[in-house]
Parts: sequence; structure tokens; C-alpha cells
Amino acid sequence: MLSENLAKVQENIRIACKKAGRQESDVTLIAVSKTKPVSMLEEIYREGIREFGENKVQELTEKQTVLPGDIHWHMIGHLQRNKVKYIVGSVSLIHSVDSLRLAQEISSQAVKKQIRQEILVEVNIASEESKFGISKEEAISLVEEIAKLPGIRIRGLMTIAPFVENPEENRIYFQKMRELSVDIARKNIDNVEVDILSMGMTGDYMVAIEEGATMVRVGTGIFGERNYGCVQE
Ligand SMILES: *Cc1c(COP(=O)(O)O)cnc(C)c1O
Repeated sequence: MLSENLAKVQENIRIACKKAGRQESDVTLIAVSKTKPVSMLEEIYREGIREFGENKVQELTEKQTVLPGDIHWHMIGHLQRNKVKYIVGSVSLIHSVDSLRLAQEISSQAVKKQIRQEILVEVNIASEESKFGISKEEAISLVEEIAKLPGIRIRGLMTIAPFVENPEENRIYFQKMRELSVDIARKNIDNVEVDILSMGMTGDYMVAIEEGATMVRVGTGIFGERNYGCVQE
């Protein structure tokens, strides 16, 4: 069943790329496996998926210890500074950096481990009160500050667009993200590459790809609905 879901998502990615005149190889699918059991991740792994996204440090590290070592892990959830030490160096990319203090902690842990951690800066592009991420206006100065830190490399931007029924409503936000990343790239800041734009989830990844997403984060579309019981996301 999961392989059929996955095939459907991959087909949709192909369609969106074609529509936008983009190469399929320019878009990376991240399978968002939060709350899902290891057996499900294994099933998707057998289908060739190597990029997995999790939003909780403990869950990520637990899954990491039992799954194959060639998986690239993506930390996509809000990250507390006291948990940074558990993931620096063992995740490929931290998508959710939204403050200088968090970046400083990532930097100091990376220096300690003598590695360079790749990160994205999370932007709250629709200015939703309920969401983490910095405003579009603050983004450039935050990128400039983070770029000065050792042990850290900015690869681009991430956003979580509003939850909408019609994905077309988010097109404007994806366009704004793309513009922002172009603006930042034009500044030619040392130690900053802006080649990754992480945006688009189950409800809107096709629109996100049309507007320039290079990473899409799909959970429900691959693994089915999440059951949180009474625990909130
Ligand atoms: C849960 C989550 C996703 C995936 O959401 P779906 O709608 O299930 O595809 C993507 N990005 C982030 C940051 C998430 O927390």
C-alpha cells in the first residue's frame, strides 16, 4: 500500500516538474515519517527512499539507531537549544533554524564535533501567529549573522505554508519564498549557498514545485493520516 502511495507522489512530482519545465532531479522528496513505526520506514526504504524527515529529536535519534546508515535524516520540526547536541553531525540538514541563538548553539556543537552542519532558515512567510519562523523582513539580516558563525553552512530557506483546502491559495507564498531566496543569493554572502528551497507538503507540493521548491516534505501522502491520540502536533 505504501509503495502505491509513494508511486503516486513520485508521479505527481514528475507531472509538476514537467508543467514547470523543471528537471525531476532538481526536486528531492523527503518522506516525513513522524509518528510512524520503523516498519513503515523500512517499507519505503526498500522502495529506494533515503531522505526521511522527523520533527522530534528523540524520535529521530531512536529511528536512526535501528535503521540503515545510508539514510539522510532531516530535522524539520521546531528545535530546542538543549536538544541540539543530540542531532548535530548526525542529520544531513536542519530545516528549522529560526533564531540566532539556536544557530549559535548549532555552531558551537558543530565546532566541538569538528564538522560543518548544513541548515536552512525557516521563514514564516504568511506571518501566521501560530507558526515558528522569522518574518520575511528579518530573513536577510538573520542569514548575514548566521553566516559569520563557524561550523555551520546555510543552504537555503524553508517554510511551512498555511493549511488550506485549495493549494492555489499558497501559490503566492511559494512565490514570495522564491523571491526571497533570489534576493539573498544576489547578496553573495560568504558561506551562504541558496540552492535549497524546502516547501510544499501533502496538500500543496505540486504548486510548490511549480514555484521553485527543491525539497518537498510529504508525510500523509506516503504514510497515510497520522494518529496523535490526544497529543497535539
Ligand atoms: C508533518 C510535517 C510535514 C508533512 O506534512 P503532511 O501534510 O503530512 O505531508 C511537512 N513539514 C513539516 C515541517 C511537518 O511538521
